Amino acid sequence: MANKEQPDKWTILTILTWTESYFKSRTIDSPRLTAEMLLAHNLAIKRLDLYLQYDRPLEKQELESFKSLIKRRVQSEPVAYITGQKGFFESDFEVTPDVLIPRPDTECIVEEAIKALDDNVFSGEPKNVIELGTGSGAIAVSLAKARPGHRYAASDISLGALLVAQKNANKISETKIDFCVGNWFSCFAKQAQFSLIVSNPPYIPSGDIGTLQPEIQLFEPMLALDGGQDGLDCYRIILNDAHNYLVPGGTLLLEIGYDQRFGIREIVQGLSNSFNYQAPEFVKDLAGHNRVAIVKKSID
Ligand code: GLN
Repeated sequence: MANKEQPDKWTILTILTWTESYFKSRTIDSPRLTAEMLLAHNLAIKRLDLYLQYDRPLEKQELESFKSLIKRRVQSEPVAYITGQKGFFESDFEVTPDVLIPRPDTECIVEEAIKALDDNVFSGEPKNVIELGTGSGAIAVSLAKARPGHRYAASDISLGALLVAQKNANKISETKIDFCVGNWFSCFAKQAQFSLIVSNPPYIPSGDIGTLQPEIQLFEPMLALDGGQDGLDCYRIILNDAHNYLVPGGTLLLEIGYDQRFGIREIVQGLSNSFNYQAPEFVKDLAGHNRVAIVKKSID
């Protein structure tokens, strides 16, 4: 890449231009933006500052380390794992390979959770809110930041993920979140009652994992993606238990895959007496896909 005889010829602007066209030739998504994010990370400056210093020559050392970041991206590693950061719902979250990278689609469940918390039915007192399978903490932390004054807890089966979530909570939310290691509800007290339960569980059918792009398949935690044979395994477990933990009139919000609406309906209908759940409602994301299932527990 760099011309060893003339290392000084590389300035921020010329290396950005070179990297953009290299990424383009390797069919990397958003080549300019990717080049900017990696270079800003490499130089430990903000993206916009690249353009305030566009004429600054790169040191040999900086060029070497940038080269290794370019290589990682070309080998399919997602930008978020390379920089260790991902923007989600107005905050910057730390991410590591222990956690799924927060997706823009997932902002939809945060918005629905905020609506549920603001719902008049429960107006007034602080509510008990939990997230199941919190990963990086993106949902719970965004919610605690947007609606402080409620009581928040979140579980994950992966200790590595919870360490990341705790760091994000400390940095982003002033409202405390109690994190616990456990499989879905297992770390919550049997008698505990919650007004709101949210989850974005693994929901990719096992047979589809092999068709995912290499960025996901090679780098993201399978534990957070593989939803069993039909992708619905985790919903079965959660719906089987959630009614025990929901206050009457409480809400369960589940992120779902674009084609899982009928699957969710069937699971609820198949439960004895539907376990007091009302018929699920569905919310579409910005792309027009069904993305969130709202399952309420009846008042009586
Ligand atoms: N939406 C994610 C994806 O398409 C999957 C998230 C999940 O399984 N919870 O990769």
